[in-house]
Amino acid sequence: MDIRLESSVKELKGIGPAKEKALRDAGIETLEDLAYFFPRGYEDRRTLRNIRDLRAGDDALVAGFVASKRYSPFARGRSASPLSLRIEDDTGTIDVVYFAGKYFEKSFAKGDRFVFYGRVTESGGRLQMIHPDFAPEGGRNDVRGILPVYPEIKGISQKEIRRLQGEVRGLYGEIKDWIPEKIAKENRLADIEFSLENIHFPEDGLKTRQAKFRMIFDELFALEAGMFAARAGNAGRGRGIIIDCGRSEEFTEGLGFKFTRDQEKAWKDVAADLESEKPMNRLIQGDVGSGKTAVAETAMFCAAKCGYQSVMMAPTEILARQHLNTLTSDLGRHGIRTGLLCSSMKAAEKRDVIERLKSGEIDVLAATHAVLSDGVEFKNPGLVITDEQHRFGVNQRKTLGAKGGFPNTLVMTATPIPRTLAVVLYGDLDISQIRTMPKGRKPVKTESIYPEDRDYAYGKAMEEIEKGRQVYVVAPLIEDSDAVDAVSAEALFDEIREKFPHVKSALIHGAMKQEEKDRIMSAFEAGDVRLLVSTVVIEVGINVPNATVMIIENAERFGLAQLHQLRGRVGRGGGESCCYLISAGDSDRAKERMEVMCKTTDGFEIAEKDLQLRGPGDIFGTRQHGLPQLSLSDLIRHGDVLEKASKAAKKLIEEDPSLLKAENAGVRKRVEKLFDGNIRLEI
Ligand code: ADP
Ligand code: MG
Repeated sequence: MDIRLESSVKELKGIGPAKEKALRDAGIETLEDLAYFFPRGYEDRRTLRNIRDLRAGDDALVAGFVASKRYSPFARGRSASPLSLRIEDDTGTIDVVYFAGKYFEKSFAKGDRFVFYGRVTESGGRLQMIHPDFAPEGGRNDVRGILPVYPEIKGISQKEIRRLQGEVRGLYGEIKDWIPEKIAKENRLADIEFSLENIHFPEDGLKTRQAKFRMIFDELFALEAGMFAARAGNAGRGRGIIIDCGRSEEFTEGLGFKFTRDQEKAWKDVAADLESEKPMNRLIQGDVGSGKTAVAETAMFCAAKCGYQSVMMAPTEILARQHLNTLTSDLGRHGIRTGLLCSSMKAAEKRDVIERLKSGEIDVLAATHAVLSDGVEFKNPGLVITDEQHRFGVNQRKTLGAKGGFPNTLVMTATPIPRTLAVVLYGDLDISQIRTMPKGRKPVKTESIYPEDRDYAYGKAMEEIEKGRQVYVVAPLIEDSDAVDAVSAEALFDEIREKFPHVKSALIHGAMKQEEKDRIMSAFEAGDVRLLVSTVVIEVGINVPNATVMIIENAERFGLAQLHQLRGRVGRGGGESCCYLISAGDSDRAKERMEVMCKTTDGFEIAEKDLQLRGPGDIFGTRQHGLPQLSLSDLIRHGDVLEKASKAAKKLIEEDPSLLKAENAGVRKRVEKLFDGNIRLEI
């Protein structure tokens, strides 16, 4: 039968409907998909071990002859009874067991030599291997060598995946090399056939490394090309304008505080961008409350003073309205005219705002994505600021750029992400970081506590409540679950009400109706509720400066970034605040994570650590960042490859922003596949 790369996997021997479905669930439909289904690692089965040296738990390769062969004494004669072989080498003996022994019996004649590879266990003081891979020593089907280990597919064994890969092997030559030749040369990439061959059928460590480099480069190149292309579609392509920032002090002096060192630095960066003719494309990262908005306002002030209009875009209407209030009170007194545009406004109101934007009667607009709709025009666009708060991702990052003719873009995000990741997520944005918090904010004191010492944390919380303060308690689950051994918010709430009946407490969680949540939150904000038990719903956008204690139950179940966000709910007023992490995890990793939280309140440091402490298999929670799933690459470990791929991708997109040239058709296809339709390239 003539099989091709595009053929369905069901054309392969042994693939019936069940296995076809299993493969499809793993994202494998065609033979080409199979070729791109990469091992997650390799098993080195090159070195034979002496039986004498084996320990339970080892994965080992041994060779020896069959010294004896018998069925397990129970269930003798039934096809299901296990076959037990005693294997002997020069140093000792080990038992090798196969269930359903009847099927294996013919393979093993007494005195013949075999090689086995498997996990060593111990039973009744004797070493044994259960169902190891085996082959006659020196035979064609030797189990020795470097073997690829694939990500698990339910219902298909490793051995079978290897066999399937063997069937596709002959087709590698048909795969077109999609990386433009120049880029391949510059980065000394191995060709695709060589790479697939050495990834699936490794023989030589160096060659396999070259092959992996090529494939990781491929993936990161596609990722970066997609990111740059998306940005090219969004980027401000307006005419270059110069915004003079000479009058900035008129604004900053009226603020009532001095910029922190990092704010000052960020402002200098922004001012330099504005005063140059090159469009600004800048990201300001900093925790909530670090003073990003104040820097952005300074920029809007300068733009307005030079006759240019600015837009501040927020992800939600609530935030847009909040911005309007801040902007009106801070900029209004300097004679700057503000306005609001969001979709829930009445049609007449909207028309009015749109009219005034067009005539130039509004200098600064607070808006949601409604501003992107047709018919919104600016008289003299100068600067667009996107406030992403906690949410960001490729799709949410569409900015006004090209459409509104805004020549300068500033993005603000409160998610501290390491520079490595920021580079990927934000492509060619320049980055300013605000790491220092304004003076007067005391860092939140953080303690890690064993579950048996919980009373200590609650005792502290009660002391604060008596002083008139408020307390958050966070649990990982809404209700008790048989499957997960963790504290639920409901059970906790019951316990707290019983223990502290005099304290006004309330429960809030994500499964409640919005009105109910709003009602409880208002009561907490007003101080009518003193202790709030919740799930992670409070992670986003809550500001109660009177709250000074945060207790987190089962803290080991939360990510570091999440713990950091939760902790950020306290320490917002003048008072000293505390965070208690009740942690039942006693693995080293859990302990190390808690230590990080106790040691630092710097969101960037925490984010770096978060990445380091994830296992290598845990490719990086990319989804939560709106990135596609990467199958081979790890943005941290492969940072050097990323840098090369990024450079090459940037250059390519500069030459061909929408990947329309014929020679880039392959790149375009790969990008579209990787992003699975989440990035729209122009047609
Ligand atoms: P962000 O946008 O990063 O969340 P904001 O700019 O909204 O932070 O600032 C949070 C609060 O801190 C605001 O009330 C602001 O007036 C105040 N603030 C900002 N910068 C400083 C500073 N350098 N010193 C004191 N207070 C500041
Ligand atoms: Mg803010």
